[in-house]
Amino acid sequence: MRLIAAFFVTVLVLVSSVAVAQESLRPRHPVAFVGGMLLDGYEAQPIHHSVVVIDDGRIIAAGTKYDTVIPENAVIIDTSGKTVMPGLIDAHVHVDLIGHGDYDRYYRFLGGMARLDDVMPIAAKQMLRAGVTSAIDLGTPFQILGLREKISKGEIPGPRLTVSGPWITRVYLDGIPDDYQIIIDSPREAAQRTRELIASGADIIKTWVGLTEDDYRAVVKEAHRHKVKVHAHLYRPEAIRAAIAAGVDVFQHVGSARNPPYDDELLSEIAHKNIPVVQTIAHRIWVYPATVAFPERLYDPVHKKDMPPDIYAEVIDSFKDFHRLSYFHEIGRETRNSRIAARQFIAAGAYIGVGTDAASPLNFHTEAMWREMSALVDSGMTPIEVISAATKTNAEILGQFDQLGSIETGKLADLIVVDGNPLADINALGHVNIVVKDGVIWYAEAAAHGPVTEIGHAF
Ligand SMILES: [Zn+2]
Repeated sequence: MRLIAAFFVTVLVLVSSVAVAQESLRPRHPVAFVGGMLLDGYEAQPIHHSVVVIDDGRIIAAGTKYDTVIPENAVIIDTSGKTVMPGLIDAHVHVDLIGHGDYDRYYRFLGGMARLDDVMPIAAKQMLRAGVTSAIDLGTPFQILGLREKISKGEIPGPRLTVSGPWITRVYLDGIPDDYQIIIDSPREAAQRTRELIASGADIIKTWVGLTEDDYRAVVKEAHRHKVKVHAHLYRPEAIRAAIAAGVDVFQHVGSARNPPYDDELLSEIAHKNIPVVQTIAHRIWVYPATVAFPERLYDPVHKKDMPPDIYAEVIDSFKDFHRLSYFHEIGRETRNSRIAARQFIAAGAYIGVGTDAASPLNFHTEAMWREMSALVDSGMTPIEVISAATKTNAEILGQFDQLGSIETGKLADLIVVDGNPLADINALGHVNIVVKDGVIWYAEAAAHGPVTEIGHAF
């Protein structure tokens, strides 16, 4: 009981410091987004000729322009011809990665952990600019806590982060620094390490591979004692069955199959138990074939702009002969199997969230989220289902739907404005004009092409 009480006190302190720190960045007046089509995060009809008013970090009104009062002192942002929707939530990111082609070589270049602090802010700003206002990081060492704090204070651009810290595994992953992985060899150790991770600042627990059912049970029991959710990296059916039995909260990767299709009984059980599934399919279905078809995508000038010269040079050099990179050795079969598995989970009626595994090789933060959403549409979901999954469902996965994930009066002012109609073409999400997080207009495309205005920043 004492631990839980301490946990809540910490949360309260954090929340109030966020509000104070970001206050100075917020527009001094209410801001009204007027004219565009509003998708509120639910699987519902869009609201045309919409108005969304934000003030002091919160949404204070949302509706049509015929029935919504705009405060007299509001700054008006014209969203005509555009779509307004909740900020995207990515349920599987890696803030320590920026799309480099080879993990081994990348960590050698970084000097283990030495340059992690140079890389993480690049990832964070790329995500926010792409409309990702919240993200779950699954496996960056605890150096990420400094980044999480800087972002929450509004010192640097980035999504609101929920972090796991190092992952729990029975299998040592060669080539990855030790700070990423916690190797256990008994359920008792699994429980103890879970406790330590939470004490060190982990918001959630990530399990990687090789765990027994008893290991999973020990992790889940300990995590739940602290009101912390467990996210499991899962591919093999035996591991999935063990995770179901142990009550793991979120299944990561399952639809981006490295293995042949799953049996109906397994799919049905996951769907009936309402276990959130974050498939991360685009890094199999889309990234490799798209790069073969158009390798020019690797040389988007935005990366040169976003990275210091030596990091950019190293990243670009890692793309040489990308089809031979070890990450892609089994990609043909992985791509074919993922196309089947993704459809299987959707057809089975699973409870589907959206995550990207960004920025695994060639899977850049600048585009991972809308590519994943596009891949889910290609796999059988409708655009409104995917948009709701990436906002409302992901907020539910976070346990924060009371604050995030929809455009409703009283919620945090996290919203994006995009060109065109994502219901007709989900790829419209690749054209984000404005990103608002915590009531701060963090990114305004207009400002990127001219002077920074009273209401818009650019980076
Ligand atoms: Zn991952």
